[in-house]
Amino acid sequence: MSDLIAGIDLGTTNSEIAAFTGGQVRVLGPGDTRMLPSCVGFSAAGELLVGEAARNQQALYPERTVRSIKRQMGSEEKVRVGSKDFLPQEISALILRELAEWAHCALGERPQKAVITVPAYFSDAQRNATREAGALAGLEVVRILNEPTAASLAYGYGDGSRHTVLIYDLGGGTFDVSVVTVEGDITEVLASHGNNRLGGDDFDDLLAERLAAEFEKQRGVDVREGHPAAKARLWWAAEEAKKKLSFEPYVKIREEALVTRLFRPLHLEVEISRDEYEAMIRPLVESTLDSVSKALQDSGKKPGDMDAILLVGGSTRTPLVSSLLMEATGLEPRQDVHPDLAVALGAGVMASRLAGRAVDRVLVDVSPYSFGVSYLGMRDGYPYSHCYKPIIRRNTPLPLTRTEPYLTSHSHQTEVDVHVYQGDDEDALKNILVGDFRIEGLTSMEDANEILCRMRLDLDGILEVAAVEKRTGKSKHIRIDNALRAKSAEEIAAGRKRIQELYETRGEMVDDAWETAEDLEEDVVDAGARVIEMPARVGAAGDAGLESLLERSRRLLAKMHAEDREEAIDLHEKIETAMASRDAAALQEASGALKELLFFVEGGS
Ligand code: AMP
Repeated sequence: MSDLIAGIDLGTTNSEIAAFTGGQVRVLGPGDTRMLPSCVGFSAAGELLVGEAARNQQALYPERTVRSIKRQMGSEEKVRVGSKDFLPQEISALILRELAEWAHCALGERPQKAVITVPAYFSDAQRNATREAGALAGLEVVRILNEPTAASLAYGYGDGSRHTVLIYDLGGGTFDVSVVTVEGDITEVLASHGNNRLGGDDFDDLLAERLAAEFEKQRGVDVREGHPAAKARLWWAAEEAKKKLSFEPYVKIREEALVTRLFRPLHLEVEISRDEYEAMIRPLVESTLDSVSKALQDSGKKPGDMDAILLVGGSTRTPLVSSLLMEATGLEPRQDVHPDLAVALGAGVMASRLAGRAVDRVLVDVSPYSFGVSYLGMRDGYPYSHCYKPIIRRNTPLPLTRTEPYLTSHSHQTEVDVHVYQGDDEDALKNILVGDFRIEGLTSMEDANEILCRMRLDLDGILEVAAVEKRTGKSKHIRIDNALRAKSAEEIAAGRKRIQELYETRGEMVDDAWETAEDLEEDVVDAGARVIEMPARVGAAGDAGLESLLERSRRLLAKMHAEDREEAIDLHEKIETAMASRDAAALQEASGALKELLFFVEGGS
């Protein structure tokens, strides 16, 4: 008899099935996402629809479609779908049956046994209903597994030693946070909190409301009233836009002929920035942090007692979630197992163990390094050309694409040098230069010009870096092969030499720049540089020396005569004010005067 046991995440929004195949636990299913929307419905012709097809008709035919049935599990109340009534476990059984079919197609064998996950707070009645759903789908449920336990197994915390982890699970319609201790297969939930009416759907609603209001403003039609098809399209567009905003700083939404009026098609066209979107959802994300602190309090633990914070659920891909969590706890949450597949993968680990295999975690391809570009920013209160923040963060699953915005640093700047680094240090010069290029022919303009830097890293270690002028779409890109291979001493030295060359052509020196930024000896100040406030910019040629000028001047203050000292301090202030107010002329004048003064002071000392 086969020893196949499947692991199943029977989710509120999506469900997945995982099993041991090809030497590891994998999520099985067609397409890239391998997620089955937890939706069941009937078409107009009475045909049963499960998954994507049911979800597609949900907004238009809610009476013939059912979603989020997990919320009703354990209740005896029937739900009406079309002309038929179903118990919640009967609907769940249809979802399980479809998943088992997916496994059958992938493995050539239909699983007869399964581990199914449930939230830690599920009552006995809810657990029994889940077992019954399995039985109705022809699956013997060999274990009901708590979702936080599954997530910690996926992350490899089910080994012999004892770990305490916080699991933050934000899905489509539910939010749970649990503090658990894990030791082998034994998990104890110390505390849990949450909101079973909060999730990514609420983010969609906020964004869709914004789109509807925009359409009403532009076209005078409120699609929320009496336009069900247009409304459904807007909600779709909102969800797609939301997902893109997890990886892009802007999203353009264009819906052709959203409504037709007097035979005239009315389109919606709008651009939303991540900043605007994050401002909308911030109160919701902040409300989850209250639950996090309550769960920690109830468990009698502090953030520092946690071995890790694990992110689970599709909505944790939203960057604001991890950044606010990090701010609140001081810990960088782990998201190196695909957040929407982690529970299914953990169920797969448990299923494999029950089938007699020694699986201790799942294998996920992640980037072992961070990658980013250098930019002109503020460091220790002074402008610095080699500021650095990763665009791709290490331990992120591959393949991936990330985009961040930057600004040109002075007026009429028509070219930008892009220096690509591997590493995490906020001083770019302490990281490894892996490539560089220049984009030319940018629009000459008085104000800052926005340049998007897009990075794509695939499983083969090919890193593509593009700089795109946002207003025109003009772009330039480079491809870096073997980005995931550790760099040899020669390659590191070559990077260092390259940086030296780049700065020498700018008339600057970067002696010992790799050791410490303080060792920089930059003599040239492009006093015409227009320095704009942080964050977000690509360092422009020639703007690097201001920081070292100010530093040099501060070092010399003690040696100066009282009058010179007073003048130098006055000039420091003028330079800082000019930078803050973006006044290029004043900056030029003050830095020129300071240079002269230093020349005099240094010559005389
Ligand atoms: P889950 O219940 O874990 O399947 O999560 C489903 C939710 O995750 C839905 O609200 C999705 O819209 C959301 N989601 C999926 N991908 C992303 C993404 N890239 N960024 C933000 N939310 C996402």
